[in-house]
Amino acid sequence: EIEEIIDPPETLKTRPPVVTIMGHVDHGKTSLLDAIRQTNVTSHEAGGITQHIGAYQVRYEGKKITFMDTPGHEAFTAMRARGAQVTDIAVLVVAADDGVMPQTIESINHAKSAGVPIIVAINKIDKESANPEHVMQQLTEYGLISEDWGGDTIMVPVSAHKKIGLDDLLENILVLAEVQDLKANPNRPAQGVVIEAKLDKGRGPVASVLIQKGTLRVGDTIIVGTCFGKVRAMNNERGERVKKAEPSIPVEILGLNDVPEAGDILNVTDEKTARSVAEKRLEKKRSSELHVNAK
Ligand code: GDP
Repeated sequence: EIEEIIDPPETLKTRPPVVTIMGHVDHGKTSLLDAIRQTNVTSHEAGGITQHIGAYQVRYEGKKITFMDTPGHEAFTAMRARGAQVTDIAVLVVAADDGVMPQTIESINHAKSAGVPIIVAINKIDKESANPEHVMQQLTEYGLISEDWGGDTIMVPVSAHKKIGLDDLLENILVLAEVQDLKANPNRPAQGVVIEAKLDKGRGPVASVLIQKGTLRVGDTIIVGTCFGKVRAMNNERGERVKKAEPSIPVEILGLNDVPEAGDILNVTDEKTARSVAEKRLEKKRSSELHVNAK
């Protein structure tokens, strides 16, 4: 197997927070992700085509924030089930007119069991029927008490439509990230997690990976779950070619021999190890599948 590298404290450098947006259907997760992305597009990028690679980065007051752009907790739980944790902060979106709903509660439970701190975005405050205080009241039942009411949960009123409160939300994400003191060693062989992957007709297997440790470079030999290969090219979420990716950076990578699964771990290693470990993992996977089918 691939050996775990221990990073001495002095090698650790501050990295951007990775944020997942959660909440009930129709409460505005997608709208909020879009609004945040748009407010942060600088003019020279405006003409660029945004690509969906499963995550994107914004820059706010000179600092970066990575957003997972598959909203909802499916992706979150799928990854956790495979032992991968990518999220540092969960933004819980609650519609100010609708209030706490079943998936709101599910999201709270998922974040809590993963030990991920929650920031509440009370969305749709532009609506006539919005009642943010009622939402705050409801959330107290689930242990989320607003800072305004003497608790320790940050709650930010927002409107994805009217682009209200977005700065406040980003500001608070950065404050919380600073408290968390998020760090990784950028100077070591890269390790990351597959966010999503597909087979592209022209380009072959394409995997979106969030780098968690080290720096991934074009030309690196990688093993990803049961797949392996050499990084042929990397793209960012603006569809631009990049040569390297540091911790908390999402990139789309080309060059794998097969399509990995979301939640698979990427490691940089030498070719011989990549090949043999991938083979062993594949054998193990096949035999456990046979086992399941025989039952
Ligand atoms: P998701 O299912 O949580 O991703 O929710 P969507 O982003 O798809 O939004 C659901 C609906 O709520 C859509 O019709 C949006 O246009 C609407 N919506 C989202 N944000 C706002 C908002 O800030 N104000 C208002 N009035 N409507 C919103």
